[in-house]
Amino acid sequence: MQTHNLGYPRIGSQRELKKAEELFWAGKISEQDLEDVSLQIKISNWETQKHAGIDWIPVNDFSLYDQVLDLSVLVGAVPERFKKLAAQKSSNELYFAMARGYQKEGFDLKPLEMTKWFDTNYHYLVPEFTKSQTFSLSGDKPFREFEEAQKLGIQAKPVLLGPISYLLLGKEKEEGFSSIDLLDKLLPTYTAILKKLQDLGATWIQIDEPCLALDLTAEVKVKYQEVYQRLHTAFPELKIILANYFDCYGDNLDIALSLPVDALHLDLVRCPSQLDDILAHPALAHQALSLGLVDGRNIWKNNYENSLTYIRKAIEKLGKEKVWLAPSCSLLHTPYDLDLEIQLDPELKDWLSFGKQKLDELQELKEIAILPDAEHSLEYLKQNEQSIAKKALSKKVHNKEVKNALISLKASDFKRKAEFTSRQKIQKEKLQLPLFPTTTIGSFPQTKEVRLLRSKLKKGELSQEQYDAEIEKATTEVIHWQEEIGLDVLVHGEFERNDMVEYFGELLDGFAFTQHGWVQSYGSRCVKPPIIFGDVSRPVDMTVKWSVFAQKIAKRQVKGMLTGPVTILQWSFVRDDQPRSTTAFQIALAIREEVLALEKAGIQIIQIDEPAIREGLPLRKKDWDNYLTWAIEAFRLSSSGVEDQTQVHTHMCYSEFNDIISHIANMDADVITIETSRSEMELLGAFKDFRYPNEIGPGVYDIHSPRVPKKEEIIDLIQKAMTYLPEDNIWINPDCGLKTRQWEETKAALINMVEAAKVLRSQV
Ligand code: GLN
Ligand code: ZN
Repeated sequence: MQTHNLGYPRIGSQRELKKAEELFWAGKISEQDLEDVSLQIKISNWETQKHAGIDWIPVNDFSLYDQVLDLSVLVGAVPERFKKLAAQKSSNELYFAMARGYQKEGFDLKPLEMTKWFDTNYHYLVPEFTKSQTFSLSGDKPFREFEEAQKLGIQAKPVLLGPISYLLLGKEKEEGFSSIDLLDKLLPTYTAILKKLQDLGATWIQIDEPCLALDLTAEVKVKYQEVYQRLHTAFPELKIILANYFDCYGDNLDIALSLPVDALHLDLVRCPSQLDDILAHPALAHQALSLGLVDGRNIWKNNYENSLTYIRKAIEKLGKEKVWLAPSCSLLHTPYDLDLEIQLDPELKDWLSFGKQKLDELQELKEIAILPDAEHSLEYLKQNEQSIAKKALSKKVHNKEVKNALISLKASDFKRKAEFTSRQKIQKEKLQLPLFPTTTIGSFPQTKEVRLLRSKLKKGELSQEQYDAEIEKATTEVIHWQEEIGLDVLVHGEFERNDMVEYFGELLDGFAFTQHGWVQSYGSRCVKPPIIFGDVSRPVDMTVKWSVFAQKIAKRQVKGMLTGPVTILQWSFVRDDQPRSTTAFQIALAIREEVLALEKAGIQIIQIDEPAIREGLPLRKKDWDNYLTWAIEAFRLSSSGVEDQTQVHTHMCYSEFNDIISHIANMDADVITIETSRSEMELLGAFKDFRYPNEIGPGVYDIHSPRVPKKEEIIDLIQKAMTYLPEDNIWINPDCGLKTRQWEETKAALINMVEAAKVLRSQV
C-alpha cells in the first residue's frame, strides 16, 4: 500500500513566495533571489512530506504563479502579442508579463484572462489558442524540479495537467475551430515532456484530468481513449496515475476505467458513491486505485473510521498492493500548518487539520490499515475517535435555539408581503427618487490611512474610541461629498470593514479566524477564509451603528450594506457535519435579523450583496437546480422579513445570467446592481428575453482600472440599456465597489456619472 500526495501549498508557510514576488515585481530583488526563495519553499515542502512518511511526493506542483500558465509556457503556447517581448526578456519576465500584463518601455500587453479553477476560489490563467496554433517544448521547469528533488533523495512523482483538460480549459481566440482539435499538434510536445521525465528516471507520473468531473461530449470522450492509448504505446514502461477530483467521474467512468493507465484516483470526499461502482467494474483489473480520503478542500480532521471502511473495501477487492491512499485533491486549497495557530481555541483546534496535518493523517491511516492491531494503530484510532466525538457533542457547535428557529420556518418567511409591482408603487411613493436614480455599490477607496487605522487598533496603538472617531470622520466626509455631487442614494463607504465576509464573521457566533490560514487565490494573492464550525447566530448588531450614523448626518437616503448568506458561505471553510444548505439558512437567519434591525432603526434601503452565487454552481448541470433552489431560498430568507416600503437591493459581480436568469428573478430583490460595462450592456439580453420585472442597475463603468469614463460613454451605455429594459426600472451605478480605487479617479468618474444621469433625464 502506498501513500501519495497530489500537490502541496506553494506560497510558503509564511507567504515567503508572495513577499519575494512582490519585491521582484517592484525591482527590489533579483531573479536569482526569487529563485532562491522558490527553491527553499520547494525543499521545505518536500522535506515535510518526506518526514511525514509519504511514499510518492509530487514535483512540478510548485508554481511561481499558476500551474496552467506553467504548462502554457512549457509547451510554447505564448500568444502572438508577447512574442516581441519574449525576444528581449528573460523567461521569468515573459512569464510574469503573461500573468500580469506589461505596460512599460513602449509595450502595452494585456495579460491572459483569469478564471476560477473549477469550483474553487483559486484562479488560473486561461490558455489562448488560435487555429494555426503550434506547440514546442519551451522550458525545463518539471525537469529541473524533478532533479532538485532527486538530489535530496525524494521519491518524486512529477505532476502534469493532462493534455485534454489543458486544451478544454483554454479559450479559442478565433472562430472556426475548437481547442480540442489541437490535440494532434499538442501531443508530440506533450510526449517530449514525458520522454524527458522518463530519461531523468521518473517512474510514476501523475496526470491530472479534472475535466473528467465535467459533462463531456461524445467527441471528447473518444479523445480520452485515443490520447491515453497513444501515450501508453509511446511509454509502455512509464506508470501513469490519472487524477480526477472535485466531483464524480459520473458517466465518464467507463471511459476512465478503459484507459491504459496504471492507477486511477477517486475523490472520495466529493464522490463516495462511485467507489462501489468502481470496485465492481470488470475493467478495474489492470489498475490500482488511489483513494482520495483526506479532504483537500477543507480543514476538518479526517474521520478515520469512515476512511477505514473505504480502505478495507478496496483492499478486499484489489489487495493491498493496488490500493493507494491520498488526499481528495491537491492540498493547494488548504492552509499550511495548524501548528502555527497559537491563538486558536484549543477545543476547536483539536477538530482541525491543515496541509501538514493531512499528511500525517494519510500516514496514520496507512499504518492502521496495514497493522490494525498494533499498539500505535490502536492509539491513532482512539485519538481520532475522541476528537470526532468531542466535536459531535460540543456545546460550541450546537445551539438549540438556532436549530429550532430553522425547524420552525414557514413558507411565508421566504416571501415578501406584496408582489413586486405593488411594492414598486409603494417605494416610488415613499422614496421619491428621480428617474434613473444614481448610486454606488457600497465601498469607497480603502486608502492606506484607513487600513492603517485598523492595524493600529489591533496593535493597541489606537483606542476603540479613537478608531471610531476616525471612521466617523471618513464616513462624514464621504456622505457630504456624495450629497455635494448629487448622488441620489448614498452609502456610508464601508470604511469600518476589513473584508466583506470577515467583518460579519467576526461578529457572528459559530465563526473562527486563523492567524496564518492563508490559501492562494491567484498569483501572489492569498485569502484567509473564516472557519464556520458551529451553528450560526447573531449576538449583536453588526452594521446598525454605522448605517444609522451615516443616515443621521445625511439629507438623502443611505443604503444599509450587508453581505448575503451564500457569499459568506462560499468564501469560508464550511462545517461538513451538516448540508451546506443548512449552514446557509442559519447565516440567512442571522442576516435577516440584521436587516430587520436596520429597518427598525429607520434605514429604508438595504443592500444584501451576493457576488458569489454564481461561483457556487456545481460542476455538473444536473446538480444546478438543487443548488440554485436552496441558494436563492437562503437569499430570500435573509431579505423577506421587511415591510413592502423597504427597498431591498442586491449586487452581483460579472455574471452571465443566461442560463440562470429564472433563479435570479426568483431572488425578487427590488433592485439588482450588476457588472455589465465590459459587455457593452449585452448581458442585459437575458433580462430582456426573460421580461425580468424588477429594477436593475447595470454597471456603467469598469472599476478594475483607474480609467475615468467620459460622460458621453455613460450616456451611450444607458441608452443601450434602454433597448433592453424599461426606463422606469433603470438605475445608474458603477460596476462594483470602489474599495480598490484611488480617490482621484473615483471622484472624477462619479461626477461624470451624475452628469450623465442629468442629461439622460432631460432627454426623456
Ligand atoms: N458592497 C461591496 C463593496 O462595494 C460589494 C463588493 C462585491 O460585490 N464584491 O465593496
Ligand atoms: Zn461586485
